[in-house]
Amino acid sequence: MAMIDNGPPDFHEYLPTIIKENYGKWLYHEHPRPGVLKHVGPAGALYSVRVGEPRLMSVDSIRDVCDIADEFCDGHLRFTSRNNIEFLTPDESKVLPIIERCEEMGYPVGGTGNSLSNIVHTQGWVHCHTPASDASGIVKAIMDDLFEYFGTQVLPNKLHIAMACCLNMCGAAHCSDISIVGIHRTVPRMDHEAIRKNTEIPSLVACCPTAAIRPDPKNKSVSVVEERCMYCGNCYTMSPGMHIMDAENDGLAIMVGGKVSTARTDPSFSRMVIPFLPNNPPRWPETVEAVRHIVEVWVENAHQGERLGEWIERIGWERFFSISGIPFSDKLIDDYIFSRETFRTSSAFKF
Ligand code: SF4
Ligand code: SF4
Repeated sequence: MAMIDNGPPDFHEYLPTIIKENYGKWLYHEHPRPGVLKHVGPAGALYSVRVGEPRLMSVDSIRDVCDIADEFCDGHLRFTSRNNIEFLTPDESKVLPIIERCEEMGYPVGGTGNSLSNIVHTQGWVHCHTPASDASGIVKAIMDDLFEYFGTQVLPNKLHIAMACCLNMCGAAHCSDISIVGIHRTVPRMDHEAIRKNTEIPSLVACCPTAAIRPDPKNKSVSVVEERCMYCGNCYTMSPGMHIMDAENDGLAIMVGGKVSTARTDPSFSRMVIPFLPNNPPRWPETVEAVRHIVEVWVENAHQGERLGEWIERIGWERFFSISGIPFSDKLIDDYIFSRETFRTSSAFKF
């Protein structure tokens, strides 16, 4: 029979037997130690050993982790949405050997419970065309600095950090506890020759979310209404003649307080607290220091069990700026509240 490409195969086929047997019937879960989860259902327990991975993995590295899964987990592992790897087994006696093997191979065990989960990021200079900064390089520098929080469970609650290298935010930056966002700050520099030769002009005009791009039929090109431009870079996606990169002015912003979880309080978007930090490779010290400072202020002041945003909502945003010493300006006032009608409220989208 001919094979037809109808998208990915049904994932149920690949679940470990213990998950198939407990599917829809899970009773509770525990955190026996940092990096290990125990999910219990009527058919028994599933142990998950979570490790951090470098997000951009070679085929050889993927083969290495598959070998661990073959040896201890009947071939079962999964990559989480925050770039962790979880090795899955119903056999408690395999947990320690998996941990030892992962650590031998340089994969740190952690990221569960009240810890820092692996940092998610977008593509940055490695691949994408509109980044205002790198992504993996900044995340490496931040994760090196905060690594103590990955393999321990000493935070008030879980900590999700995300990095998106432009306002398109194709990562999870819009609703993470701490979000680092690459920002452009100048209007695109137009190369009219490239626009004329290489651009479908109606698509270029239509792509602008603020209607800042106007057709210029006389010159067979376009013009930009500068005061309408929000420097998103979307037009550079449509035309090589709309240069958005600006080494002198591009930089980073930090947003805090978002979460996707429905536990205790509604999901919420992250909000801007630091509008600009310099783009300073290779170790981005200003950004690393700012993120550590926010984490430390939260650790020192939050109640046990409070996510970063929950703590700020309890004490008030004014007090957050006062306690943290982060300069406040009227540009940071953001009264946009989560809307149940337009955003998802669980791990499944709700329309
Ligand atoms: Fe590209 Fe923007 Fe996504 Fe970065 S956040 S990978 S620049 S679309
Ligand atoms: Fe429009 Fe964004 Fe291009 Fe500005 S950068 S002109 S807002 S598409």
